Amino acid sequence: MKITDVRVILTCPGRNYVFVRVETDVPGIYGIGEGTVNGSEPVVAAAIQHFTPLLIGRDPHRIEDIWQLLYRHSYWRGGPIFAAAQAAIDIALWDIKGKVAGLPVYQLLGGKARDYVTCYSHASGRDPIETEDSARALIARGFRVIRCQVGAYGGAGVLGSKPPVSASAPAEQVYEPTPYLVSVPKLFDHIRSALGMDIELFHDVHEQLNPIEAARLARDLEPYRLFFLEDPLMPEHRESWPLVRSASTTPLAIGEIFTSRWDCLPLFQNRWIDFIRIKPLHVGGLTEARKIMILAEPYNVRSAFHGAADIGPSAQAASVALQSVIPNFGVQEWTRFPDAVYDVVSGVCELKDGSIYPNEAPGFGIDIDLEKANAYPYQQAFMPIVRRQDGTMHVY
Ligand code: MG
Repeated sequence: MKITDVRVILTCPGRNYVFVRVETDVPGIYGIGEGTVNGSEPVVAAAIQHFTPLLIGRDPHRIEDIWQLLYRHSYWRGGPIFAAAQAAIDIALWDIKGKVAGLPVYQLLGGKARDYVTCYSHASGRDPIETEDSARALIARGFRVIRCQVGAYGGAGVLGSKPPVSASAPAEQVYEPTPYLVSVPKLFDHIRSALGMDIELFHDVHEQLNPIEAARLARDLEPYRLFFLEDPLMPEHRESWPLVRSASTTPLAIGEIFTSRWDCLPLFQNRWIDFIRIKPLHVGGLTEARKIMILAEPYNVRSAFHGAADIGPSAQAASVALQSVIPNFGVQEWTRFPDAVYDVVSGVCELKDGSIYPNEAPGFGIDIDLEKANAYPYQQAFMPIVRRQDGTMHVY
């Protein structure tokens, strides 16, 4: 069996996604994969097109060998763009292997270690009462783990926005950490008195604090028994984890922008975190994400895979397959995709009562309607810019 082509599908059915279709010389057998990096989609597409000549003629069954080839060929290896481009191919190769075997990918990984993959979703509102209502609506839908916040990331610290400098630039958010730090414990004080202590609740800092602020927040939130505090620090602040860790018994989670095992390993070895937020999409694929979760297991680090709406259906299917089989599963983030995604992509993993289930079709069971994908062309978009009130870029 040989790879004959790699098609890159850059499409915007409500938001931008980078999908691939790895073609083979066996009629009807192709693999669907995904390499979306929010705000940098055309760059990933170019990376995939750049290394496609390295793949033509190779046996798609040799997944580990192709992983090593794509990781090492460039010499300047790694980083989010190459990791996502590599993930797109890796996910597609697992899809091909499943289709040839006639089995869903989770079976190739050893079979299910649980009956369903518990998800969390997001409760938010303009104030704690609206956030409570939003959480109650999620509970009514069956969710048992809920992320809570007021407003956007930065909550009460978001003081407004400045208009974009040009038509193609994003608006610039104005943020101050102090009102944010003061407001979050009040939110959890309200929600816990309204909903009790039994439901699993947590909060996402989204890396908007510096280390001493993060340590204080973890301590201030300790009475509210968080499931975890998400991304209290930027990955660059690795040496400050002991400060945050020693401040409280609030469990800690990080990793949604990690791109390799080398980002994760020191945090495992030093026992600084409780949950790792990687997912196959941004660490080079299912092959590497599986290894990272095996590395995490003896350190009691559980998964909390990132699942924002920019982690599209193909990448989500790879996450769900892995989350179905690992022993050290924690939770899976779930966000509904824009409606048009369900028109372009078939076989999206089903959500039921706050849990997600892998597709039982061979491979990942995902397919892309190429004509429909073409009908939603890429729309230029960037990640938000955050500044302090005085105009300084927010450095945290
Ligand atoms: Mg997050």
